This record gives sequence, structure tokens and C-alpha cells, in this order.
Amino acid sequence: MNKWTEILLDERFEEPLHGSAAPALFQNSLFVKPSFDAMKHDRYNPKSYFYSRGNNPTVNLLESKLAQLENGEDAKCFGSGMAAISAAIMSVLSAGDHVVCSNSAYQPTRDILGKYLKRFGVEATFLDAVDESGWRAAIRPNTRLFLLESPSSFLFEIQDLRAITSLAIEKGIVTIMDNTWATPVFFNPLDIGIDLVAHSLSKYISGHSDVVGGVVIGSADRLKKIKHDEAALFGGRMSPFEALLVLRGLRTLEIRMEQHQQSTLQLARFLEDQPKVRKVIHPGLESHPQHSLASSLFKGYSGLFSFILNTDLAGTKAFVDSLRIFQIGVSWGGFESLALPVAILEEPIPYVLDGQEVDVADTLVRVSVGLEDAEDLCEDMLQALKRV
Ligand SMILES: *Cc1c(COP(=O)(O)O)cnc(C)c1O
Repeated sequence: MNKWTEILLDERFEEPLHGSAAPALFQNSLFVKPSFDAMKHDRYNPKSYFYSRGNNPTVNLLESKLAQLENGEDAKCFGSGMAAISAAIMSVLSAGDHVVCSNSAYQPTRDILGKYLKRFGVEATFLDAVDESGWRAAIRPNTRLFLLESPSSFLFEIQDLRAITSLAIEKGIVTIMDNTWATPVFFNPLDIGIDLVAHSLSKYISGHSDVVGGVVIGSADRLKKIKHDEAALFGGRMSPFEALLVLRGLRTLEIRMEQHQQSTLQLARFLEDQPKVRKVIHPGLESHPQHSLASSLFKGYSGLFSFILNTDLAGTKAFVDSLRIFQIGVSWGGFESLALPVAILEEPIPYVLDGQEVDVADTLVRVSVGLEDAEDLCEDMLQALKRV
């Protein structure tokens, strides 16, 4: 049987559910027991239900499906992607440790490593390098963690994940990967030896712009510690209702990703032919400098990419303000198409154009291609480009 069919159809809980064809919502905070002995017996069973900060059947069902989809042994859901990523990081690092991360990882992740954890005696190195040799050169005797995220947020640089992971294994360094962009449909980091995978469930996995959530997936041993320590002690749990929305989103994840991929490639190729567009940056295009590395890692490409307009800041403003279907917003992965003019972030984005490094922040637009008709999306871009 197809892996997705098998995982998605299995809605078994431990209690009778009257034949419900869809997952049930357990919106309760606590679970009562019939007797002193039953209470005492369950007290030390990590799988038993006591209190919904720890275990909740709806959340646990989601965790079991996400673990299977990522080929992991276990998973823990959290109230946001950042709660998941920070729990994964805290489960690995101690005072005196050193962590290596790319310069273009999700900004809050970089802030935890480089700013927040500094107070707890953690050292961090941020790299431009996408190849193994750059990561090798950054290793110190106290390097404990590689934080991987690929492709990068705005420029879609691809890390050589297989080589960097082999290096980490050789040196006894733990690896965590933020796999939000690819989703389990297009990449399974645990399969290449990465130790922990984190996702923001707020993007494609829930898929309807109505959930903020996160998950960490990995071996039973690593998850046991995360459940016992970072999840239970910091308490950043996912609510059962949000877990139910993610369970519903999961049922269409695979077909949504296929459609996002198809529409996005169509739009990216269309934009490559437009004179007002200077450069389209999409790892699935032959023009991307790391296209062959990307295609050797990922089974497909999601709906996020960037392009550089042939204009200035005023032209970029005119362009995004003229869009009718694309709306201006952060985040991604929902039904609706979004455009993010990177200039609003006010951080320089160095990029090599025609052999010269330039700051492209003023003219770089990142788009999340939604599930609207792809022809309509191309036409929307075309009419807005006329206003540049
Ligand atoms: C959105 C995002 C996060 C953070 O997730 P939240 O659910 O918003 O906390 C982390 N990493 C990446 C790559 C993201 O896009």
C-alpha cells in the first residue's frame, strides 16, 4: 500500500470512537482514572494520559503521523515552529558548547543561537558557506551542533546536506535541520543521517493559514529527552484544536505540494522571459547555480521563490501595490498567493549579479505561490510589471 494512504487512513485511538471516519477532538485538559491503583499505575507510564500539556490523544495522533512521514521513531508537537526549533536546540546544547549555522537561516533561529544563548555561555559561528569545506573549517574542539536549513530564506542557496551531515557524523556533531520549505513530501532529512528534523507546521503542512504550530522528529531516545525536559518543563504545547486542523491539512499535503510545485515552476519560467525581471531565483530552474545539487537532494520544489526586478525601490513599491491576486504578507504555504518585498525588512541582501556582489534588498521580491489558477497568477504578475 502507498505510504501516504496507509499513514493517513490510520485514525486509531486507544478508545472506541463510534466509527468516526475523521480524527476526534479531545479538547480536555485532564484525564481522570477509575481508582487509586489505576492512577498510580499510569503515573509512571510515559504513554498514559494525565494532563494535556503532556499527552493528548488528538495531538499524539498527529505526532505519530508526522513521525512516520519523516521516517522517524517519534515526534513532539509544539505551539509554534519556533517553540519546536528552540526545544530541539536546547535539548542538545550546554554551556561552553559551540554551534555552527548558516548566515541565511531563519532570523529568529539565528537570534536564539547568536544572541539569546550567548547569555548561557554558548558560542555561535554563522557561515556563508554551502559546501562541506566551509563547515569543516568552522569546527572547534567544542562544536556540538550544526543547525541546517536549506534552501536559504530569500536567495534559495542549497547546502550540500549529504556532505555536511557526513562530516558531522565523522566528528560526533549533532545535526538539526529545519525542513519547513521541502516538507516531508519532498525531503526526509533523517534518511541522510540528520539527527533531528524541525518543521513549522504553520506553513505547508497545515496549509490553510489558520494554524501556528511546530514539530520535532527523530529517534526515540532524542524525543524521550525532549518530551521529558523541553516540552514538559517549558510547556510550549500545541493545542488539540490546532492539531486537528493540521491532521485535516495533512490529508491533502501531497496533492497540494504537487500543485504548488507545478504552478510555481510555470510562473518562475514565465517571469524569466519578462524584461522587467532581472533574475529569477528558484532552485528548480536550470538557471539556478546549484540546480543539480538541489535536484539530487529534493524530490520536488515547493511554492516559494524570489526574483529581482529591473528597477529601484520606487519601482518595487509600484509593482507590489499593483498586484491584485498576490497579497502582501509574511509567512507562506497557504491557499493564497503572497508577495513579500524584502526591502521592508531593512536588512542588506548581498547577491552576485553579472559577476559583481551587490545589495539586492530594494528590488528582491519573494513570492509564495498559492493554489489559485496558475494562468491568473501569471497575468497578475504581467499587469503589475507594466507599472514598474
Ligand atoms: C515560519 C518559519 C519558522 C517559524 O515557525 P513559526 O511557526 O512561525 O514559529 C521557522 N523556520 C522557517 C524556515 C520558517 O519559514
